[in-house]
Formats: sequence, C-alpha cells, structure tokens
Amino acid sequence: MSPQVLFYTVETVHDKNQKDRQTIMTSTLTFPTPKTITGGCLCGGLRYLVEFPIDHDFRAGSETCQCTQCRKQTGGLFLVSHRVSTAAFRFTGSHATLRQFNATPNVDRAFCSDCGSLIYWRPKDKSYLCFTVGTVDPLYLIGEGHPEGVASTARGSGAAGGDKASQPETESVPEGGYGMALANGCGRHYWCKNEIKGVTDGIPLLGMGGRGTRCLGDY
Ligand SMILES: [Zn+2]
Ligand SMILES: [Zn+2]
Repeated sequence: MSPQVLFYTVETVHDKNQKDRQTIMTSTLTFPTPKTITGGCLCGGLRYLVEFPIDHDFRAGSETCQCTQCRKQTGGLFLVSHRVSTAAFRFTGSHATLRQFNATPNVDRAFCSDCGSLIYWRPKDKSYLCFTVGTVDPLYLIGEGHPEGVASTARGSGAAGGDKASQPETESVPEGGYGMALANGCGRHYWCKNEIKGVTDGIPLLGMGGRGTRCLGDY
C-alpha cells in the first residue's frame, strides 16, 4: 500500500428510537482516502478534478438523496453524492456542454447537454457542492486498473485550491479504489420519506445500516 494513502477510521454509535423498537448500533469503518480524484460525464465532454482539502471530512461528505428531482434527473431510485467545498472542485479542459437546470430555484443541477450525465447539485447560496459519485472515474471508484501502471495526478492538497500550479506528483490508488471514502453513508440521507417500501428502505448505504443522519423531508 502506498504510504501516501491515508486511512480513515470511523466509529459511530447510533441510538435509533422508533415506535416499536430501540436499537443501539455501532459501526466501525476503515478506508483509504484520496488527495485527488477525477471524473466526468458519459461522453467525456465534461471532465473534472476534485482536490480534497487536508481537513476534508469524508464521513460527513457522503450523502444520498431519494427526492423525486434526483430520481427524475438520474433515472435511478436514489442519488449518491459527495459534498465538497466549491473551491475543491473544478472542471478541466473545455466544458462547452455544461448546462444547469433548476428544478428548485436556488439549486443548480449541472449536467452534460450531450449525454445527460448529472455532475453535481449545488445550492446557490452555499459554499459547497455535491458531485455525483457515479461520475467518478473507475480508477478511483473501484480501483480499475490497479495496480499496474496507473497513477493519478495530484497538485498538492491545498485547502482552497490555490492556483500555485505545483509540480504534479503521483499518488498510487489502492486496490479497490476510494469507493468507501466517497460513499460510506455516514453523512446525510435526504428525503428518506420517499423510501420505496421493500426496495430502498433496507439498503445500508441509504441510512438503514445505522450510519448518517436520516432526513425525512426537505433539507
Ligand atoms: Zn457528456
Ligand atoms: Zn435529491
């Protein structure tokens, strides 16, 4: 394992009070965390780089949403996203196909006008955005290409994405990638009241595994 890879260990105790039961759940997660990742849309017209601040909270950053807007836009039953500061995210190269849709006036939904991939959603009045974990390149998400001959390009781990174009360095991606860092389910789960009985109401990632904060309605 590369010594540059930091591991994150999370121990969470949940006290779930429900009408007919009370359970105490403890979960411990250990996973490697990236300095940088890249991703893009399905057609390749949009490419992006995320440079995680040194103090980025990979636990709080992992979010899901089951609102109807996310379902309609992605075609999936839930959205898996990761929250970062807007300064940590930037498009690379041309992004002529970038469009934004506002299903809610104060929330931008950035997508590719050629292939339709949703890249992120972002409240206009906040300093963060939530990029879609499904658009992260397979190298980082699942470790595709590991271990031979694949490396990522990092520009350092500055918190604000400063423009010091420091010399690229290579960072080996661990076996299995960074999927758990990006989608561990320890953050917020929006619109759990839209759970589909028997389908999405028992999936650990979506909050029923005792991780994260379940949000029953709007955020
Ligand atoms: Zn595209
Ligand atoms: Zn949503």
